[in-house]
Amino acid sequence: HADIAMYSAKKMGRNNFQFYTPAMNEESLERVRIEGALRNALERNEFVLHYQPQVDLKTGQIVGMEALIRWKHPELGMVPPNRFIGIAEETGLIVQIGAWVLRTACAQNKAWQDAGLGRLRVAVNLSARQFGAADLIAGLESVLRDTALDPDCLEIELTESLFMSDVTPAVELLHRMKSLGVNLSIDDFGTGYSSLSYLSRFPIDVLKIDRSFVADITHDANDAAIVTSIIALAHNLKLAVIAEGVETLEQLDYLRSHGCDEMQGYFFSKPLAAEDFETLLRQRRALPAPAHCEAEPE
Ligand code: C2E
Ligand code: MG
Ligand code: MG
Ligand code: MG
Repeated sequence: HADIAMYSAKKMGRNNFQFYTPAMNEESLERVRIEGALRNALERNEFVLHYQPQVDLKTGQIVGMEALIRWKHPELGMVPPNRFIGIAEETGLIVQIGAWVLRTACAQNKAWQDAGLGRLRVAVNLSARQFGAADLIAGLESVLRDTALDPDCLEIELTESLFMSDVTPAVELLHRMKSLGVNLSIDDFGTGYSSLSYLSRFPIDVLKIDRSFVADITHDANDAAIVTSIIALAHNLKLAVIAEGVETLEQLDYLRSHGCDEMQGYFFSKPLAAEDFETLLRQRRALPAPAHCEAEPE
């Protein structure tokens, strides 16, 4: 363990001597570095949003985009969200970071609309910690007021974890959010542990099928059954359904022929920097038509 501690101290550089308990491995050291750097990231303008198109499976057109945070740290390099969002949640920093994401995404969407690039909907991820913050509703209201974005062009992505405990305050909050006119979706649907009963009681608009189910739909009969069941469940509840993580034409065709409403995934586009997303919009890029349509006579 002494070796590890020495090695870690060297890696940290700047000759700063520190004591490490044997349990403090590389991973927890990395955590400490990320946590420290995260505290200054907002004021140093190190965050940027990327946008991943969401495409209507009937028309093939881009109808919206998910805003996904990116963090470029001068020394740590590009830190993916999976390595810092959890830490931001534990430290509470996610509340400020999330407020920045919401404001930036809404302002960007409004700017694209004002530039005549279409009436798109922007989806923003909300962490449980933000959901619990006292000023959530006031914050949403002020962003909508300041950016003048139509609330119907904003979608808030929630996760099932929100519904696991203490259900009553969640219902009230969701209704207050809905009353602002925004759309609500359940992200990573099917991966949480909550009961399905909340779906009928809560004012949800969209289910997002987690990409772990989409990955094998064309090879695994069980995953295919889960996906078609989620589509049916959503439609029976009058909800829209969007598939995440669509990477192949086969997956796309499967989802299209089983009535899924929208798709998001590398097959169409990875998340893009704002200027690249704008280029996509200007090109009016769309999905290829279903194969059988091409052969049909006029
Ligand atoms: P998510 O909200 O489920 O976002 C979808 C993730 O799947 C994104 O990863 C996206 O890049 C990735 N993805 C999209 N299409 C494909 C595909 O075809 N194949 C594969 N393999 N991956 C695909 P990303 O950007 O790394 O974000 C990871 C997670 O971090 C997000 O999952 C979300 O939970 C969280 N996150 C990202 N931005 C924010 C944010 O602004 N606030 C909060 N609270 N969480 C965020
Ligand atoms: Mg999401
Ligand atoms: Mg997701
Ligand atoms: Mg996910």
